[in-house]
Amino acid sequence: MDPRAPFLRLLDLALPPRCPGCGDIVEADHRFCAICWDSLHFVGPPWCAGCHLPFEYDRGEGARCGSCIADPPPHDGVRAAVAYGDVARRLALKLKYGGRLAAAETMARAMVRLVPEEGDLLVPVPLHRWRLWSRGFNQALLIARGVSRGTGMPVEVDLLRRVKGTPKLQGLGRRSRAKAVAGAFALAPGAEARLEGRVVVLVDDVHTSGATGDACARLLKRGGAAKVILLCWARVLADETLD
Ligand SMILES: [Zn+2]
Ligand SMILES: [Zn+2]
Repeated sequence: MDPRAPFLRLLDLALPPRCPGCGDIVEADHRFCAICWDSLHFVGPPWCAGCHLPFEYDRGEGARCGSCIADPPPHDGVRAAVAYGDVARRLALKLKYGGRLAAAETMARAMVRLVPEEGDLLVPVPLHRWRLWSRGFNQALLIARGVSRGTGMPVEVDLLRRVKGTPKLQGLGRRSRAKAVAGAFALAPGAEARLEGRVVVLVDDVHTSGATGDACARLLKRGGAAKVILLCWARVLADETLD
């Protein structure tokens, strides 16, 4: 945990509520102003039955996108609150690099309604310990805790581990991304007992290429998970540049 965390939290309490997107004063914490709210693109059906990629028009029940047909994903769908855009990006960066921990709660509140009823446990995508030391917190864990507060679903903190740092995936093709994350994750000793037949909700802040989610889902299923559903704040829908 960031040593500044308690201080930052106090600071959040002392100030008037501000829009998580632009910083304008708003009525209550975690509420977006009308302009930011309107610019958020909430993800919903019609979408691909495999990965929940939104379709522009309804292609019928069970329709899958091109990449799910060509190469079925190892997970059981991606639930994203919003499409990755200006405001979604600002919030993600505020949390990750600005240490504004309240942003995790804002994201979690938008994600609670997407948690599948069949879910048994929340598993945050882990950070490598070096990254954890330099950043002071794992943003995915903070978001998962917020989702847990809203749903009562337990968080399994150390079930999944990142044993190898990964280079920036930005600019890499699909194959190179998969290669870069291969072997980056491992299950904790004895994880199988906690995974057997369970439906795992894998939590992350931003879902980009899917390489990370795929690697984690494969591992969790190998450990006995019945299903792995990805849950994130924002999903990159087009080939956008990430920071
Ligand atoms: Zn705003
Ligand atoms: Zn798909």
